[in-house]
Amino acid sequence: MSPYIGRFAPSPSGSLHFGSLVAALGSYLRARSLKGQWLLRMEDIDPPREIKGAADDILKTLDVFGLHWDGEVLYQSQRQEAYQDTLNQLLQQNNAYYCQCTRKVVREMGGIYDGRCKPLGLESGAIRLVNTEGVSEFVDELKGKVKVESSFAKEDFIIKRSDGLFAYQLAVVLDDAHQGITEVVRGSDLLEATCRQLSLFQSLNLPSPKWLHLPLASTQPGFKLSKQNAATAVDSNNPQKSLIQALAFLGQPKVATSGDIRVMLAQAVEQFQLDAIPKNNEILIV
Ligand code: GLU
Repeated sequence: MSPYIGRFAPSPSGSLHFGSLVAALGSYLRARSLKGQWLLRMEDIDPPREIKGAADDILKTLDVFGLHWDGEVLYQSQRQEAYQDTLNQLLQQNNAYYCQCTRKVVREMGGIYDGRCKPLGLESGAIRLVNTEGVSEFVDELKGKVKVESSFAKEDFIIKRSDGLFAYQLAVVLDDAHQGITEVVRGSDLLEATCRQLSLFQSLNLPSPKWLHLPLASTQPGFKLSKQNAATAVDSNNPQKSLIQALAFLGQPKVATSGDIRVMLAQAVEQFQLDAIPKNNEILIV
């Protein structure tokens, strides 16, 4: 059995809010309860969406909660060369191609890109993967089999954007492979993305991790708490309260209230029950 390696991969687009605390805590409890490692990766490859100071703020908040990671933080902004090397390789092998279709044009195709730029041999634009794998289902460790629409699964999706930024799907796959992640634990907003990521893992001949998707904290059906909708940051002055709420959200047994967050967290690790986590994709919070 290879050792368990999990991770938390926040984007620095705002402070840690209750939804991201749930993802951090869920992945931490799972990794620590299996005596595994828990790595941290800062997904800072989308400067237009970043907020200055947010990356440090997230790290400080995790520290206040006693959510201590192993090793150095991996910053995606430092990994551009690796991403570009892979893109070059995919282009050379004709496993990727340039596309100049606008969003409007893709909408007119019915929202799923039809591959029309593939035979054109364009030399600039966005880069799309030739999605021969077209993964349409996977097994989630909590939810069981998850399926997505087959037209979506087969789409040649974007791996480098027309504005020159690397796409999340490419960066996340290369980094999960680079960090040797054995299981990805994150929010259920990324169920569809998982199929895309599996297509990429297979195209690149990389071993893929297992997957476990936690319920999302939502304010209304379909509206997850997010940094973009200005979800309030968790209160670093009272981490005990947010920890208790996040544990309850994940269906976990109560921990003894103590002034020491590390004691509470250690008890939560000891009591961790995977099967107690709700299998729903989202849970409404007030
Ligand atoms: N950076 C992504 C986010 O904050 C999460 C990526 C992942 O866990 O795969 O939504």
